[in-house]
Amino acid sequence: MTDVVRAACLWDDLDPTSETSDEFHTSAGSSDPGDVSADVVIVGAGFTGLWTAHYLNQLDPSSRIVVLESRRVGFGASGRNGGWSSALLPMSLAALVRDHGREAALAFDRAMNASVDEICARARGMGLGRQIAKGGYVQVARTRPQWDRLRDAVTEARSFGITEDDLRVLDVEQTSTLIDVTNTLGSVFTPHCAAIQPGSLVRALAADLRARGVRILEGVTVLSIEPGRIVTDRGPMNAPVSVRATEAFTVRLRHHHRNVLPLYSLMIATEPISGDLLDSLISASRPTFNDARHLIVYGQRTADDRIAFGGRGAPYHFGSRIDPRFDTHDGMVRHLTTALREMFPALSDVSFTHHWGGPLGAHRDWNCSVLFDPRTGMASAGGYVGDGVTTSNLAGRTLAHLITGRETDLTRLPWVGHQSRTWEPEPVRWLAVNAMAKLAALADERERTTGRRARTIERILDLVLGH
Ligand SMILES: Cc1cc2nc3c(=O)[nH]c(=O)nc-3n(C[C@H](O)[C@H](O)[C@H](O)COP(=O)(O)OP(=O)(O)OC[C@H]3O[C@@H](n4cnc5c(N)ncnc54)[C@H](O)[C@@H]3O)c2cc1C
Repeated sequence: MTDVVRAACLWDDLDPTSETSDEFHTSAGSSDPGDVSADVVIVGAGFTGLWTAHYLNQLDPSSRIVVLESRRVGFGASGRNGGWSSALLPMSLAALVRDHGREAALAFDRAMNASVDEICARARGMGLGRQIAKGGYVQVARTRPQWDRLRDAVTEARSFGITEDDLRVLDVEQTSTLIDVTNTLGSVFTPHCAAIQPGSLVRALAADLRARGVRILEGVTVLSIEPGRIVTDRGPMNAPVSVRATEAFTVRLRHHHRNVLPLYSLMIATEPISGDLLDSLISASRPTFNDARHLIVYGQRTADDRIAFGGRGAPYHFGSRIDPRFDTHDGMVRHLTTALREMFPALSDVSFTHHWGGPLGAHRDWNCSVLFDPRTGMASAGGYVGDGVTTSNLAGRTLAHLITGRETDLTRLPWVGHQSRTWEPEPVRWLAVNAMAKLAALADERERTTGRRARTIERILDLVLGH
């Protein structure tokens, strides 16, 4: 069997509204920023920027909102991700309880659960009902150490008051009604996750904003953001409020090089799979899935009956470089196709058709955050690592409340105002980050061959990730 893996993003190919030519966007529909008046300028047309514009527009339809995007809507991770709208956060619940107390941590957890429903409702409102399925998330244990880890996590969650409604342990038989992967010992299931088509959602969001009068200027690169003034490659712009929604690409902004770490996550997708075969592997309710290995993988059954599957392990590039050449990686194609076929041997005759990826953003302490300084009018949100689809919606709503001067349950969530320290200079950053990925892979290999938990490596990883 030969795989014809094209370097192309599945979500673009499936969406007739997608435009792949940046030239089209830079030449059409754009004005010079200096000609446009704005109350709020948002830098970045991904989920963070567009949800912020969406909720700001709802709270104050008279506010003149301008979004500046260097390439095109959804060019960043928002248009290319795995499509899990999950309630996961990059920081653990235990770390949140330790740092902010139980009540604040649980309020955050509830807000994330509610945000999954909010995204589903908004997506349906924009005509994307067929693209979205709230089938939950099943994490399978496929080795004894994975099973121990999952049960420990559930015990810990119970100690904080998380009930069966939100997180439940499934035995082998119960797991098999959702997903049939090799070596299953059991799983943990949460209903708080939807499988989405991220490319369609980000573009529908932009179209909806344009229809409401929000200006989105594509092909405009912001060089620096200062209080009241945004400097772009097409001239400066003045606005009392600015929002930096640039995630991994933040490293390119003046004075922000070490604020965030661009980590690459890469994906593959299969051809459409016959209904009977796919139904025997993954429930038609479309739960998102992975197992509890250290080097993260993630999968979804798509609306057109493919499997889109991604994972970490691609190299971090010296100096936090971002380059379209890094969006694909032959070694990752081999790693991901092997991992998926090992989980589902019945896919041996199914071809892989797409391979793509992109950079996501990590703060030094692995905490995501929402920031707004009313004195300077400067706001930002990000550091979601691989959990940005839902967090960016919550961030957008929270920024809208902060910018319009509201004090609400959202503005009191513990990530508001959280400051992370900067990343170490090179070469320390390069050495440490690539060593972490190697350690995670080593821990998986050790656990698979010895059947015992790689606790020392787990402790090192937890220490670095602040868990
Ligand atoms: C392959 C992959 C899979 C992922 N899977 C998942 C998943 O399944 N679930 C999940 O929750 N998260 C996932 N993530 C992470 C998630 O996609 C991101 O956290 C989220 O989309 C970030 O949204 P954002 O709007 O903050 O940033 P982005 O989507 O990266 O948008 C930033 C935008 O800002 C623009 N920009 C940057 N700098 C400038 C500038 N100077 N001037 C003008 N414009 C600028 C960029 O062009 C870009 O369009 C994944 C990420 C990747 C890469």
